[in-house]
Amino acid sequence: MEKYDYLVIGGGSGGLASSRRAAKHGAKVAVVEAGRLGGTCVNVGCVPKKVMWNAASIAEALHFAPDYGFDVAAPAFDWPKVKAGRDAYVERLNGIYAKNLDVDDVHLVRGYAKFVDAHTVEVDGRQLTADHVLIATGGRPDVPNIPGAREYGITSDGFFELESRPEHVAIAGAGYIAVELAGVFNTLGSNVTLMVRKDQPLRTFDDCLRTTLMESMLQHGVNIETHTDLSAVERAQNGQLAFSTKDGRRLEGYDTLVWATGRVPNTDRIAIENTGVKLDDRGHVFTDAFQNTNVEGVYALGDVAGRWLLTPVAIAAGRKLADRLFGGVANARLDYLDIPTVVFSHPPIGTVGMTEEQAREEYGSSVKCYTSRFTNMFYALSQEKAPTVMKLVTVGATEKVVGIHVIGMGADEMIQGFAVALRMGATKADLDRTVAIHPTAAEELVTMR
Ligand code: FAD
Ligand code: NDP
Repeated sequence: MEKYDYLVIGGGSGGLASSRRAAKHGAKVAVVEAGRLGGTCVNVGCVPKKVMWNAASIAEALHFAPDYGFDVAAPAFDWPKVKAGRDAYVERLNGIYAKNLDVDDVHLVRGYAKFVDAHTVEVDGRQLTADHVLIATGGRPDVPNIPGAREYGITSDGFFELESRPEHVAIAGAGYIAVELAGVFNTLGSNVTLMVRKDQPLRTFDDCLRTTLMESMLQHGVNIETHTDLSAVERAQNGQLAFSTKDGRRLEGYDTLVWATGRVPNTDRIAIENTGVKLDDRGHVFTDAFQNTNVEGVYALGDVAGRWLLTPVAIAAGRKLADRLFGGVANARLDYLDIPTVVFSHPPIGTVGMTEEQAREEYGSSVKCYTSRFTNMFYALSQEKAPTVMKLVTVGATEKVVGIHVIGMGADEMIQGFAVALRMGATKADLDRTVAIHPTAAEELVTMR
């Protein structure tokens, strides 16, 4: 039996951050990782996705380049070249992560961990034990249980394996991944159909973001099939994919189907029943505000805990937990309020705090919103324009800012600083007192009337 102070299951965003911080506090730490170091974000998430988003952003710039006097007749896009470069970059990151563990003296155990009891796991016949055990096993893409779904469809994991750009892509889903991949494929030249079950994608986001995103996607040629819930997928005689919908329609003519219908937590194959740890009805580990599970000395965070499935959230929660357990900071915990987030759609979305709808539900008539819609100066020389929309949600006589929502060019880099202001309790007057930076899109957030 190998004994540690801290045993971390999962070498993804949360597990790596927590293990390294614990080791820096002097704990004897092991991380067990079954796959590639870095987890979802590095290998099949944020990192390779952002590379593809960057590629799409370059394609977009090239589209407008002639208006700025450049002669860039029909630039060709080499998908295999970008994939090779992307894969090599990710591999370099895998190596850097391994080196970092070494430097911090975290023991890396390669293999798949299964619980023997709450404080012991087995990995390829080895038993490891610790007083403190962290479940940071993340999640994986979910695929609906309908005929042909797995046989003919891929998920975001499969997207990163594509060796060439598909011509006719259908994406089923309505969340971050669905709209991000729709934007990438469309901008890089595929014909894209987005199939959403309800009337819009991103239903939990502020109305101004959803509506503008729909408008922009339609303007850029994405075909959006609303109220489309698939019941079966098959390969038609012509070799293309065809879908049946629950309301009896048929959609045909696709070479690729991507499921972007959410993720399931990795708790079903780790013999969690041997621990007594409680799960919710979707399999996420129940945790309190300090990442404690119901079992003493067992913790969970990141995607497996099901709250804000974002890398910086997993990292921050992991570091706070290590500070609490090994760094002598008794009250260390992540505050899950007002977490900023960006959707790398085309155009991108940056958002933090309450939607107008949430604010009105909580604060009623004391809510006042400021909205602005304008065209970014980037389009000054072009016939084709794309909107930027911003909304500030304020409450009370002081007009405290409780929500900031931006969609449009640059929103992705704009929201981080404004999130600081919101978390510090900024009022509309505080924003107004800040001198604008001209000519930018962000200046609109401090000049709204
Ligand atoms: P993971 O990173 O998934 O790590 C879990 C690790 O545990 C994995 O490496 C897995 O192999 C390992 N594991 C599981 N079971 C075992 C076991 N029994 N034994 C040993 N090892 C095990 N977030 C952002 O903030 N920004 C983005 O732009 C962004 N883009 C994304 C794009 C896509 C396509 C996807 C899918 C996700 C994206 N995310 C993004 C979300 C982000 O990737 C996750 O929130 C983050 O990776 C969660 O970290 P984690 O540590 O909880 O889990
Ligand atoms: P999401 O939870 O964001 O969205 C999935 C959506 O798909 C559901 O909300 C639902 O919307 C719809 N859906 C569910 N089942 C079906 C079905 N059977 N058929 C059609 N539609 C269905 O999941 P994602 O997989 O997009 O992403 C997982 C998480 O990863 C995100 O929530 C986010 O936290 C993180 N992520 C973050 C990114 C970033 O930071 N930029 C990028 C990518 C992922 P509805 O109910 O409206 O139909």
